[in-house]
Amino acid sequence: MGRLTGKTALVTGSSRGIGRAIAEKLGREGALVAVHYANGANSAEEVVAAVEGDGGRAFAVRAELGVPGDVDTLFEGLAAGLEERTGSADLDILVNNAGLMAMGAPEEVTPDMFDRMMAVNAKAPFFIVQRALATLRDGGRVINISSGLTRVANPDQVTYGMTKGALEQIALHFSRHLGPRRITVNTVAPGSTDNGGELFKIPEVREALSKLSTFGEVGDPAAVADVVAFLASDDARWVTGAFIDATGGTLLG
Ligand code: NAP
Repeated sequence: MGRLTGKTALVTGSSRGIGRAIAEKLGREGALVAVHYANGANSAEEVVAAVEGDGGRAFAVRAELGVPGDVDTLFEGLAAGLEERTGSADLDILVNNAGLMAMGAPEEVTPDMFDRMMAVNAKAPFFIVQRALATLRDGGRVINISSGLTRVANPDQVTYGMTKGALEQIALHFSRHLGPRRITVNTVAPGSTDNGGELFKIPEVREALSKLSTFGEVGDPAAVADVVAFLASDDARWVTGAFIDATGGTLLG
């Protein structure tokens, strides 16, 4: 029996990177996991297979976020997958992990780039939480994946930082709103974390990113996933509205 046996979970953007590690961890803890993706259908199926290989249960759900109808598409797929397996569309754990990151001089940001990033990183999570209110069980969990970048200046990521700053507001305000239902709402902020992307394979870049953490390493997605699993568990029932620094000491200064 895992800590999350009998629970249902949706992890957005879990076809790869940190989301994948979260989906696998929640699956190992016993949750039935909806593995959400946009383009990586094969990768999402690999994650489902990995969860099942560990004795867990999972299914893939496709929905591109940041486009009209995104939340409808997501929740239709989610409900179908959950009802087929449990007879109900009720959800216990919502992890808003899907996100877009981009770097570039502030002078080069266009209104379209800004709108797109805001739509995926902040608007979609808000409406996903809003939509989930109807099916989240009392005692449920909402966990939003932000970034340590909301606490450290990097001009080349000002728009990304703005979207994550907006995302963090969800925990503050919804924790008050959902307290009477014993639903906790928290933010987890990773630092530089090896998501398998090309950037992390460039030795000089990896070395520079490693130095950001007090442990002298880039983050491991599994280490972030362990924090999320704690917040998802009953052990974290008294933690809500919190910003959890999962940056490996990057914010120590
Ligand atoms: P990643 O490897 O780039 O993966 C992103 C995931 O989000 C993929 O599953 C992708 O799905 C999905 N996604 C992206 N845009 C989407 C859209 N418009 N609609 C639906 N799904 C979309 O990401 P990551 O680096 O693991 O980051 C995960 C989260 O942690 C993000 O919120 C990120 O901002 C945050 N974070 C990351 C780091 C880091 O260093 N990695 C640091 C701090 C915070 P498809 O591949 O199927 O398209």
